[in-house]
Amino acid sequence: MKKLEDKIISDGSVILPNIVKVDSFLNHQIDTALSKDIAEEFKSYYNNKKVTKVVTIEASGIAIALATAHAFDNVPVVFAKKGTSKIMNDTMYTSPVHSFTKNVDYLACIKKEFLTSDDHVLLVDDFLANGQAMLGLIDLCKQAGATISGIGIVIEKGFQDGRALLEKEGYEVCSLAIIDEINENGIVFK
Ligand code: 5GP
Repeated sequence: MKKLEDKIISDGSVILPNIVKVDSFLNHQIDTALSKDIAEEFKSYYNNKKVTKVVTIEASGIAIALATAHAFDNVPVVFAKKGTSKIMNDTMYTSPVHSFTKNVDYLACIKKEFLTSDDHVLLVDDFLANGQAMLGLIDLCKQAGATISGIGIVIEKGFQDGRALLEKEGYEVCSLAIIDEINENGIVFK
């Protein structure tokens, strides 16, 4: 998505070696017009897929999930909460996730009543790096017996392992900007 790539170049920055900062428009301050365009791209890519819920993980996936859910006929958004074992109980599906940016482990949790075997889920997130957040969401969907219709990623770091892991599991991944490499001159897209 050219508009997104241009925005990443003009307004994003890099924390070496491989963290991309886009908090001026994607995951702290949010460019609402761009979010809408992102959502429309996901809609046109997954137009033929049944989607009854958009599922993401807090916090930075929520804004994109909300815009995307509007594009898919206002289906509900469910975001996994990040918790510790203290909140584990039999009303929740939980899955352990390793955070790439914070280098800590947490539990992704979704209340059982909000994800069921009737659901056809579009999973979305702001970034795909090593795929651990997505694999956690996939695990939660599997526990619920929900069908995964596809995965929508705003920015994929193509030099990390996420896509390979997800595709190996048989999931379709639509990424709107794929970063091939980050070098001394900056970000290079695929
Ligand atoms: P993964 O689980 O695929 O390794 O990492 C994805 C998660 O880590 C996303 O939910 C995202 O919030 C965060 N993340 C991974 N890489 C980056 C990055 O380069 N920049 C930012 N801002 N977040 C990232």
